[in-house]
Order: sequence, then C-alpha cells, then structure tokens
Amino acid sequence: GVSIQNLRKSYGTNEVLKGISLNVSPGEVVCLIGPSGSGKSTLLRCVNLLEQPNEGTIHVGGFDATDPDVDIDRMRRKVGMVFQQFNLFPHLSALRNCTVAQTKVLKRSQSEADKVAHANLERVGLGHLADRYPDQLSGGQQQRVAIARALSMDPELMLFDEPTSALDPETVGDVLSVMRNLAKEGMTMLVVTHEMGFAREVADRVVFMDGGVVVEEGVAEQVISAPTQGRTKEFLKRVL
Ligand code: ATP
Ligand code: MG
Repeated sequence: GVSIQNLRKSYGTNEVLKGISLNVSPGEVVCLIGPSGSGKSTLLRCVNLLEQPNEGTIHVGGFDATDPDVDIDRMRRKVGMVFQQFNLFPHLSALRNCTVAQTKVLKRSQSEADKVAHANLERVGLGHLADRYPDQLSGGQQQRVAIARALSMDPELMLFDEPTSALDPETVGDVLSVMRNLAKEGMTMLVVTHEMGFAREVADRVVFMDGGVVVEEGVAEQVISAPTQGRTKEFLKRVL
C-alpha cells in the first residue's frame, strides 16, 4: 500500500499540495477526483518521486520515499504508473514494450521476461496481438499494453492518472474492464479518474481534492451520491 502524511509541494510561490494525508491499504482501490488544477497529478507524481515533495512523508512498498537516502530505482519498481498518454515505445512490438524494463531493470532473462509479458498481455485481453506495433493498435489497446507493461514489473501498487481521458469513447470500456479485473484480483490501486460510474462501482473509497487539500473522502457510494461538502456537491453536479 501507500501512506502519505501531510504532503506539501510548491512550484515557486504556488503551493499546489497543502498538506495532503492519504492512505491506500494493500488490496484497496481508491479513486481520486477533483477539478482541473486541484493537484491530483502532482500528488501521483510525488508518490513515485517524479516530483520532489517539499514536506511530509510517503511510505510505499516498504520504502520511505521521502528519506533522502532512499534507493529511488528500487522503490519505483514497486510502483506501476499508467498515464493519460500511454508512451509506448513506437519501434517496439507490444511484447517487447512489456519486456524491455524486465530485462534491463530486473535483469530477467529474455525467455523469463517473454513469459511474464505474454501472461500480462493475456491478462489485458491482448495475447493475440503481442507482435503488433503501437501504430497498429487502437488507443484503448495501446493503453492496455501500457497496463500490461506496468504489471510485468510485479508492482505492489498501481497508479493511474486519467487512463481513459485520451481514448475514443468506444475503447474506454475495455480499459475500465481491465482495471475492474485488476481490482478484483486484489491489486492496490490509486486512480485519478473522471469516470464516476467506475469510481462508484470499483473504488473502495473516493477522495475529493480541491485547491491542494482533501476536501472530502469516504466510501464511494457515499461521497458520490451523498456528499456533505459544498465544493464536492458543486464538482459532482458538473461531472455527473
Ligand atoms: P487536471 O485535472 O487538469 O489534470 P490536476 O488536478 O492533475 O489537474 P495538477 O496537474 O497536479 O492538477 O496541477 C496542479 C497545479 O500545479 C496547477 O496549478 C498547475 O498549473 C501546477 N503545476 C503542475 N505541474 C507544474 C510544474 N511542473 N511547474 C509549475 N506548475 C505546475
Ligand atoms: Mg492531472
């Protein structure tokens, strides 16, 4: 899981995260919602140290991410991240996209890496397209390859930052269904999403952020259907 305590992050004089505390227990799925600019991506990027927090602590996968002596590379292996833009290597097949970090970073043999990659491509429903290149795949298929690639590193935690926002509507469902299955398998997930149906159905908890603070959190059904804070109500009115 991940445990975030009193996290602060500024860009210059602009304080973007103003003391965020948030836990995701092992096996739990938490959806993070909130308006544009509220700091959701910054929070996710702090968890795997793509951004350096100014204050606070983050414990993830047995590491203290905010310890200056932390082994960032070893820590990052525990955290899979899937972005809005899938960023596959265009010159590599789906299979090779899923093996390259396994062999380079985890030092797995090519045959072991192939086995793991095939299993994860099967897991996202793309076993039959392993030899395709990214430009021969739909956006939704590419995003599923990106998920398989992250899973091939055996992460303890998966971070998703609006994984379906850049997709054609007809491919969104397949990606959400892969994520739903991951959740069922017990994967620990922190998901930034505007898909309220997904959040309601799959998330154990929903966290609503605005202006760099957690405004409201609770079980999904309660936060989405019966929010108590004015700002949450206003946001949901706009997205539902
Ligand atoms: P969205 O829903 O649009 O993705 P968000 O909740 O993910 O929004 P962030 O991307 O975390 O919001 O941005 C929060 C604030 O931090 C914004 O005001 C943004 O302009 C600012 N910000 C983000 N990254 C940087 C950066 N690298 N340098 C300076 N300011 C930044
Ligand atoms: Mg964002």
